[in-house]
Amino acid sequence: MPFAFPLALEVTGRRCVVIGGDSAAAVKVAALLDAGAAVTVIAADADAGLVELSRRGEIELIGREYRRGDLVGALLVFATGNRARNAAVFAEAEASGVLCNAHQDSAHCHFASPTVTRRGDLVVAVSTGGRAPTLAGYVRDILAADLPDEFGALIDLVAEIRAEGIAPDDLAERGRLWRSALDFDILGLLGSGQWEAARRLLRAVLAGESRSGVPLPEYGGNGTPECGSGGFVSIVGAGPGDPDLITVRGRAALEAADVVVHDRLVHPDLLAGRLSVDVGKEPGRHPVPQDGINALLVSLARQGQRVVRLKGGDPFLFGRGSEEAEALAAEGIPFEVVPAPTSALAALAYAGIPATDRRCSSSIAVVTGHSAEGQAVDWERVATATDTLVVLMGFGRLDEIAHRLVAAGRDPATPAAVVSRGTLPDQRVVGADLIRIAEAAASADLPGPALLVVGDVVRLSDRIAWFGGARNPLQDRIR
Ligand code: SAH
Repeated sequence: MPFAFPLALEVTGRRCVVIGGDSAAAVKVAALLDAGAAVTVIAADADAGLVELSRRGEIELIGREYRRGDLVGALLVFATGNRARNAAVFAEAEASGVLCNAHQDSAHCHFASPTVTRRGDLVVAVSTGGRAPTLAGYVRDILAADLPDEFGALIDLVAEIRAEGIAPDDLAERGRLWRSALDFDILGLLGSGQWEAARRLLRAVLAGESRSGVPLPEYGGNGTPECGSGGFVSIVGAGPGDPDLITVRGRAALEAADVVVHDRLVHPDLLAGRLSVDVGKEPGRHPVPQDGINALLVSLARQGQRVVRLKGGDPFLFGRGSEEAEALAAEGIPFEVVPAPTSALAALAYAGIPATDRRCSSSIAVVTGHSAEGQAVDWERVATATDTLVVLMGFGRLDEIAHRLVAAGRDPATPAAVVSRGTLPDQRVVGADLIRIAEAAASADLPGPALLVVGDVVRLSDRIAWFGGARNPLQDRIR
């Protein structure tokens, strides 16, 4: 059997006839009215709701049985209620080119009526060709559960920006750009009411990469590209967690920013009241790829925006800030880098663990515990190379890391600590011998972000841990 041909039919102002006056008829009438159809109901015994609609002039109600000829001028007819008359209705529809749907009577249907779920102008329709309506409803519910309410707003925004004509002419290229634009958390922005940020973001992604129809920046006489009217990017470290630990210069950049492009770990206080775009990774949601972030920064700056690229800790320590700086430099976009305390040092300080101490540590290494290709650490070399060792991004692999260090010659009894959510009010520190640190951290059920520090300096925290004490006159500033 051939498949049904799906379409979304425009019925505004078109005559659509519903035969029968029961609840199934009322459902069709409501859907037709939503779509702007001119509805005629033919029923000897219409239910109260239909009578009321007719009284208000929203439908035409003809209070008698169907007769041949009732379908003249109609686009669609829905036959409900009495199955015995379906054959006659269908025959007239066939003869006069009207499309017919008879309720639960597929022999007398030209089309099935899909079950739908809507978000504004987004309509998801599910059809089993009338063969398994309950299954269609089941599938619709699965889809509906995954469709955020903001899809309606998204369609409005997409339509608005499409009308600006900034996307390239080439269809395939345009499709690719739209997809990459939607990789950004536009829905999140709309959900939190940040329409303007969402608008700028979509525009920037679409215009920035497009090769046609876009006002690209003016180029100066010496061949150096100049950024159109004041576009500038500040790559700013947000500090380790506590929002007071951003630098004075970083704060000034934030205050002057038109838009902030930020990672997941930055403190919400730094974003409050600013147009901001989250490009960070969240569990369960895939992050914007680095290329996409680079292109976004370039594009926003080209549109004359003052952009702050806000990153956790220091931007040049495991922050990929250098890749962004390189992309900006390559495109001739002016930028600055505003460093900040890295979690690798600041979380230690807040845990009462000095990075070095002349009595027991004269060297420190900061390494990544992430095993991503190209960044893998040579644990053999690192294990005993420095007195203090700090491992970022290793929280999920503490056991493996500790064992590697021991296998490579680090004393299993070396003091170690995990600092969780360093510098934040809920900071926690768990200490143990290196060989037992993973177990200790696991049984404390620490949340991330967290880092591992290994070395005799950890011992000093017994005496100098200070954070969280009630006598700090600045305590009430610690958020
Ligand atoms: N550029 C950042 C590091 C990015 S890598 C900086 O300079 O701090 C992210 C890792 O940093 C996390 O996996 C975690 O190991 C560490 N980290 C970030 N914030 C932290 C915090 N508040 N407490 C403990 N560790 C933190």
